[in-house]
Amino acid sequence: MNPPPISAVSRRQLIAAGLALSAAPARGADFASPAPLAAIEASADHIVDISVCTRPFRARGPRIEAQPWAGRTIIHNYGHGGSGWSLSWGSARLAVQLALSTREKRIAVIGCGAIGLTTARAAQRAGLRVRIVCRERPPEVRSSFATGVWSPSSRICSNEFASPDFVARWEGMARHSFRMYQYLLGLPGDPVEWRESYLLSDLPFDQPAASANLPATEPDYAELDDRLDDIDPRSNPLTPAQHPFPVPHVRRYAQLVFNLPAYTKLLLDDFFREGGEIEQREFGSLRQFAALKERTIVNATGYGARALLGDESIVPVRGQIAHLLPQPEVRYGLHYRGHNLSVVSRRDGILVQAQGDNDYGNADITPDRALSLAALERLAALARPPSTSLRPR
Ligand SMILES: Cc1cc2nc3c(=O)[nH]c(=O)nc-3n(C[C@H](O)[C@H](O)[C@H](O)COP(=O)(O)OP(=O)(O)OC[C@H]3O[C@@H](n4cnc5c(N)ncnc54)[C@H](O)[C@@H]3O)c2cc1C
Repeated sequence: MNPPPISAVSRRQLIAAGLALSAAPARGADFASPAPLAAIEASADHIVDISVCTRPFRARGPRIEAQPWAGRTIIHNYGHGGSGWSLSWGSARLAVQLALSTREKRIAVIGCGAIGLTTARAAQRAGLRVRIVCRERPPEVRSSFATGVWSPSSRICSNEFASPDFVARWEGMARHSFRMYQYLLGLPGDPVEWRESYLLSDLPFDQPAASANLPATEPDYAELDDRLDDIDPRSNPLTPAQHPFPVPHVRRYAQLVFNLPAYTKLLLDDFFREGGEIEQREFGSLRQFAALKERTIVNATGYGARALLGDESIVPVRGQIAHLLPQPEVRYGLHYRGHNLSVVSRRDGILVQAQGDNDYGNADITPDRALSLAALERLAALARPPSTSLRPR
């Protein structure tokens, strides 16, 4: 099947169409010559990869608890939905507290994704000797295929389980992670950085979007973000003259971005530098943990815990990302509300994400190229010569 045609929108075309307008700063002084907003090459021939992975969602939220097992202690740390990177440090802190209470000085961490690797680093920082044992290590782990933005409440639990206790625990994890990420800014290679992003909408933001961003097949997820209002930078409404997008309502905000290749490398380098070891090995069942020499074992197997423990409370939620060639001049992302389109610019490329109709409960990681091409079409349309309200200034 031939893919639908995609309109390539080059920077030159955008400038010719008068769309490479400047985005004036939302706060503070109005600079005389603000930087222009570079165009994204929303073209099929810029796709270098289409990655698919599954979010390990649990309606009750992540499982972080200790389980005595055959004279050992297993500390579970899995089921972080669409928030694993964002909550990793806070979740690791809880797991490490449980590990320290066993008084063992050496621990094993099963899993080398966002959760296992960060838990291993947090345990080292607490003075423990750590060995990671895992089937895959980065970049083959599912965590490597995430978008890589601060999204601490994304598919973290369903609304019915968002009890006050859960919310308080989640908030503690999110705040600790957020603080840790601020210490990772400004490092060589920019493993973590702030970038600007635009929220686009056809309707005023106080009205619901015409079509939902998530299909009706997905649960009623808890919306917790307003608990973090004091640390999340506020978004600012822009006038049509302040942005190039052919949509009536636009807000700009700062987005914390994890450049996952650089960030993962940093975590691994630090882990090895502090004496960490990795053994690659697959466990067919919990019983096989008995072969480990460590008596305190952190289970950070993510979606793998479903098969390993027979834990059917973990539901896969499929997610697909088209990776476009890097464009260093594009230093912003966007989310088009109600149009199933999210774009994040990272150092290693531009990531274009769209939801499928049947992502929930779907563990199929076969790429659906048509889904990504349709998202690119919507992105390209944002840069076509638009309405009269967007005349060049
Ligand atoms: C499309 C998409 C975008 C996302 N974007 C974001 C985002 O922007 N921000 C964010 O915070 N989160 C995001 N997420 C969510 C995030 O990726 C996950 O929450 C996170 O990857 C979970 O990490 P993990 O370490 O638990 O699992 P994994 O990365 O799956 O790691 C599990 C580890 O356990 C090992 N393992 C599993 N089973 C076994 C076994 N039987 N024996 C031995 N080893 C085993 C694996 O080999 C691996 O090493 C996104 C997810 C998707 C799908």
